[in-house]
Amino acid sequence: TATSFPTRSSAATSRSILDAAFPHGLGAYCDGAMVPGAGAAIELRNPATGEVFASFNDPGTEGAEALLASATRGAQLWGALDGFERAAILRRVTDAIGAHTEELALLESATTGKPIRDARAEAAKVAEMFGYYAGWADKLTGATIPVPGNWHTYTERVPWGVVVAITPWNAPMFTAGWNSAAPLAAGNAVIIKPSEFTPASTLRLAQIAHAAGLPDGVFNVAAGLGSTLGAALTTDRRVGKVSFIGSVPTGRRVAVAAAEHGIPVLLELGGKSANIVFADADLDRAADGAISAIFSGAGQSCVAGSRLLIQRSVHAEFLERVATRAAALRLGDPLDPHTEIGPIITAPQYASVRALIEAGIGDGARRVTEATVPFASAGHPDAHLAGGHWVMPTLLDGVTAANRLETTEVFGPVVGADAFDTEAEAIERANNTTFGLAGAVWTSDISRAHHLARTIKAGTFWINSYKTIHVAVPFGGFGDSGHGRSSGPGVLDEYTQTKAIWVPTRAAGATFPSLSY
Ligand code: NAD
Repeated sequence: TATSFPTRSSAATSRSILDAAFPHGLGAYCDGAMVPGAGAAIELRNPATGEVFASFNDPGTEGAEALLASATRGAQLWGALDGFERAAILRRVTDAIGAHTEELALLESATTGKPIRDARAEAAKVAEMFGYYAGWADKLTGATIPVPGNWHTYTERVPWGVVVAITPWNAPMFTAGWNSAAPLAAGNAVIIKPSEFTPASTLRLAQIAHAAGLPDGVFNVAAGLGSTLGAALTTDRRVGKVSFIGSVPTGRRVAVAAAEHGIPVLLELGGKSANIVFADADLDRAADGAISAIFSGAGQSCVAGSRLLIQRSVHAEFLERVATRAAALRLGDPLDPHTEIGPIITAPQYASVRALIEAGIGDGARRVTEATVPFASAGHPDAHLAGGHWVMPTLLDGVTAANRLETTEVFGPVVGADAFDTEAEAIERANNTTFGLAGAVWTSDISRAHHLARTIKAGTFWINSYKTIHVAVPFGGFGDSGHGRSSGPGVLDEYTQTKAIWVPTRAAGATFPSLSY
């Protein structure tokens, strides 16, 4: 039960939880078995304590070849099943994930520092994703299309074959589900390459799916370096489609490299989303929303509400409400079920977040919240966390349009606030970004709310709410935030190609088309 779980992070705890899931160590999950890698050694560090707790080897070139060969066989096998057979297996996978949510959550939390309560919610979401797309596997229809003359013309949906998914470190288990359930339902085999910092939960997910009945090679996983393994997997002609979730520069690099091999890429990239609060809003609800918008996941969220635009007449009062709530957030051991804010997951990201806070202040912003991490003082009950990558929830005010934080994604618990006077000014500021992932408005004026929803450039827009996401609803970006959608029924179009089929209904009456393409 949950109560027997450890609640105190340490290298030994992380290692024992990892060993319980992978008694023979980590490697690549290929053809239904864990295969140790032969490439570079990669260390896994617990971000809550800063300690190294395990290491594994990149699969190297030989590993990449084995993964691709296995997935190619897997795709043939899986694609040859009918939708009803795939749906039945995916329903078993859904149940198996549902039965393992506590184990998956604990593994995610102990290896990435994500608070256990968030990890539990995300594990449940992964089961929900598989359940949702299992329901689509036997409902992929084509169309019959009337044409002049005696023809029966119809379309069918054909899987791409092998789909390679490249995922980031901030939500490894969630993004693994997001990028496997739909392509599998559509009849593809998947190879997921999780971030080298956070491989464990994705590997476990593949094992669970395989044990529940997915055939060998249909769900392969290999963690390793992006520049070698990631590049090898996204530039091989056996791959039909790539889905990439990560940063803008890497996404662009992957898309260009894949395009040179004729491989299309679905991109889910970063954001710099505006959360707009008008004076007529319910300010308490808006303050709660502003807190969860930026501080859940310690701000390591692509849809984070990292810009807080507040109408001037309530600016000071609203900032005060947000600051009070930020100060009450429970920063602490990720394994403690009461913890709300965990550490920054990777060491390079930790350095980057701290540097960007200084850059924002250098550009004229004022820090409103406390900067000192409590564990730094000797004798604190959580002194075991002192070596971790901790950043306090940070509210900066006076982040004007000229500040670097107006346009730079921090991907940490840092929100830049500023005041505005008119609705037009709020819209202009919200759109003052090349990103377009999300946005929100808090107001009691329904017409204004819908007007903002129409005029703000973003793939998702929330009215009097923030961060609600569901697998049934399309999610994706405008502009630099990417293209293509990774949830909702439309994703099945991303993971299939359309084939058109022509049959003459009366041989004598069917005239052959005379176009010369
Ligand atoms: P990243 O771009 O550094 O890495 C993403 C993945 O790409 C990793 O698995 C990495 O190993 C791999 N990679 C690196 N170089 C590669 C190459 N040459 N070829 C193939 N793969 C390569 O991103 P990150 O730091 O892991 O994640 C943070 C970023 O992800 C943020 O910008 C965040 O906004 C974004 N993100 C977006 C969404 C979304 O759905 N829009 C969701 C989560 C995170």
